[in-house]
Amino acid sequence: MQKITIAIDGYSSTGKSTIAKQIAKELGYIYVDSGAMYRAVTYYALQNGFISKEEFNVSNFIKQLPNITLKFKFNPELGFAEMYLNNKNVEHDIRTMEVSSFVSAVAAVPEVRLQLVKQQQKMGKEKGIVMDGRDIGTVVFPDAELKIFMTASPEIRAKRRFDELIKRGDEIEFEDVLKNVQERDYIDSHREDSPLIKAEDAIEIDNSNLTLEEQYQKIMHLVTMTLESFE
Ligand code: C5P
Repeated sequence: MQKITIAIDGYSSTGKSTIAKQIAKELGYIYVDSGAMYRAVTYYALQNGFISKEEFNVSNFIKQLPNITLKFKFNPELGFAEMYLNNKNVEHDIRTMEVSSFVSAVAAVPEVRLQLVKQQQKMGKEKGIVMDGRDIGTVVFPDAELKIFMTASPEIRAKRRFDELIKRGDEIEFEDVLKNVQERDYIDSHREDSPLIKAEDAIEIDNSNLTLEEQYQKIMHLVTMTLESFE
């Protein structure tokens, strides 16, 4: 059967990766969380002192880009691929509020985007991929056969992220999570290079009031229709 490319873009904490993982599993496709790559690069910048609340040493940081190796390794126990930075599993470290508060600044640097987009395009060369992010349908795979754009209100998204962080044991205030979601929305949609915008041919899904099962059914229906259009 013909394999397609599925691009899922949208604001932070819209549940893109949860649904993308399920769709990829059902189809036997590769799943790539492009946000994890931006998070890993940000984690590197924090660990090596290139970025802090006071300053972001962009010019020195971009010189380090060739020393950053990113890899996804499938963890059969979890059923998804985890992020490795220079051969170290950083899946847990990249999901902290600290990384969340710096990632949009790092992701706005054109040299960073250039490197990561190149790697993402390579992963999707054979199609049969579901990738989620902010610029997948516009920049990474502009020819993707199916493009989805996910939205939900900032309060609902912050509540979802807050519940996730509490569940993993982080001490965190809801107000800080909401502020972070709103700040990232703003930076991601206003940056000069590859801002978060809905691709013209993307199908928008507002999942504020949809259960996971409803979202899954809706997207699988779109997948089936897309696949049928090639028969
Ligand atoms: O998807 P997630 O919320 O983990 O992404 C973290 C951040 O990485 C986003 O807020 C955005 O700044 C950046 N990002 C991006 N382009 C992508 C994926 C993520 O700029 N394709």
